[in-house]
Amino acid sequence: MTSPLFGQMMDVPLLASSLLSHAARHFGDTEIVSRRIEGDIHRYTWRDCEKRAKQLSQALIGLGVQPGERIGTLAWNGYRHLECYFGVTGMGAVCHTINPRLFPDQVAFIVNHADDEYVAFDMTFATLVDIIAPQCPNVKGWIALGDETCISTHLADMATPALSYETLIGRCDGDYPWPVLDERSASFLCYTSGTTGNPKGALYTHRSTVLHAFAASLPDAMGCSARDAILPVVPMFHVNAWGIPHAAPLVGAKLVLPGNCLDGKALYELMEAEGVTFSAGVPTVWLGLLNYMKQAGVRFNTLKRTVIGGSACPPAMLRSFEDEYGVEVIHAWGMTEMSPLGTLAKLTWRQQQLTPDEQRHLREKQGHVMFGVDMKVVGDDGQELPWDGTSFGDLHVRGPWVIDRYFRKDDSPLIDGWFPTGDVATIDADGFMHITDRSKDVIKSGGEWISSIDLENVMMSHPQVAEAACIACSHPKWTERPLVVVVLRPGATVTREELLAFYDGKVAKWWKPDDVVFADELPHTATGKLQKLRLRELYREHVLPTVDEKVV
Ligand code: ADP
Repeated sequence: MTSPLFGQMMDVPLLASSLLSHAARHFGDTEIVSRRIEGDIHRYTWRDCEKRAKQLSQALIGLGVQPGERIGTLAWNGYRHLECYFGVTGMGAVCHTINPRLFPDQVAFIVNHADDEYVAFDMTFATLVDIIAPQCPNVKGWIALGDETCISTHLADMATPALSYETLIGRCDGDYPWPVLDERSASFLCYTSGTTGNPKGALYTHRSTVLHAFAASLPDAMGCSARDAILPVVPMFHVNAWGIPHAAPLVGAKLVLPGNCLDGKALYELMEAEGVTFSAGVPTVWLGLLNYMKQAGVRFNTLKRTVIGGSACPPAMLRSFEDEYGVEVIHAWGMTEMSPLGTLAKLTWRQQQLTPDEQRHLREKQGHVMFGVDMKVVGDDGQELPWDGTSFGDLHVRGPWVIDRYFRKDDSPLIDGWFPTGDVATIDADGFMHITDRSKDVIKSGGEWISSIDLENVMMSHPQVAEAACIACSHPKWTERPLVVVVLRPGATVTREELLAFYDGKVAKWWKPDDVVFADELPHTATGKLQKLRLRELYREHVLPTVDEKVV
């Protein structure tokens, strides 16, 4: 008898639908709670979700949608959006989540670039649909996520003809076995938010979606569990809410979806009412929540941990969550091109023997890679730099949930098989990664690099500062020097000089910003990140007080 070359295990493909089937079969009564844009709270279970997702698959087949075709969504975090995640991908089409906070022209560009067959939208986006529909002639139909009554009440003024989601799926019985697809077929399509250029599409596979969900749920990643009630504040239109809609059914967690009510009060009340234990979002939304809690003098009773990422988590925010509210912060880094999770700042057993200050300092960094992702930093010559915690260079990654190429672009972005992230980072001897900047935001002073993120973090730790952004300002001697733009808290009295002096002893002398200016607000991107490109435009003519230093 010859020895078998291949193993003899079942060849079961990794499919997005299997996540939902698992939750429906084994955690069938576990709840999904949604704050609807209709205003009320909706509750049902993973079992109900699967039935309706299957009805949606049948409805799409009835509309003539073919496997591989794209269905767009313009929707908040809610149960119907979740059904689109699984109903669209389950029958083999691609769920294309679109960020409705982008400019209408960008949304139209994305819909056309993706060649969406249908677009499902929350009724709050009716005006947006009316603006873009004439620019998107290839869209066969616009599906309003509601029933006929809602449509006649809320969409009476809408110019674009809209189909009712509830009517469409109501015609189907949900008796539909999920097809066994090739696990390498496309599942989700997400576009980058265009912080640094035109939005580009990342087309995930079923395999990458499931593998990412597995890895994201591990204890040293997000640590999702059936004991959790998870509230993703990060929108389902922002890199699949960081994979939470996939990780939650994988572990059988309760899911709480906040709809369009993302202010501090609404989030806090929903978290408390639903016993939320775990949440995730970008620093900007947490600012709103923390401010509300401070003003209202309330505390969390159930929330245990939260993932903060999408941009650097200010150390002051980490302290606030942990010291004032007893909520563990997990700082995470990733990007659309990585599905999105890459690293998380969870400590190893050995790192936990360090002093509390040293541990906190480490946890402010972006952390270790999850299994599946590998990373390196390279210098200008393309050579890998040492893992010494100080050598910084371009961060490159690779792995089964990292893109190989962009959607509908022929040229590969890879360099020697690695994806260049556009971030600048260091890695220390323990494999802990620290993002110092985006390569386009780095401040180059006299040939040396200054980290704008580090300077922002110092300023954000000042008690009278609400938000701060650091950008490069041109300087005749040093080429570029740091300028910090500050939004003060209401009633603050601090002066420019005091804020500059706040850097003394906290950063190297030559890193100290040359100027601090005040602004009423800072420009943010559609995903809540600082829009540094816009800031640099706004302060292009700014003259630093240090320009008169004699040029040697
Ligand atoms: P876009 O590229 O359009 O901004 P993404 O959401 O994909 O949209 O952004 C990914 C980028 O966000 C990363 O390349 C990095 O610059 C930044 N980022 C994400 N998480 C962090 C973090 N924890 N610390 C610093 N920067 C981060």
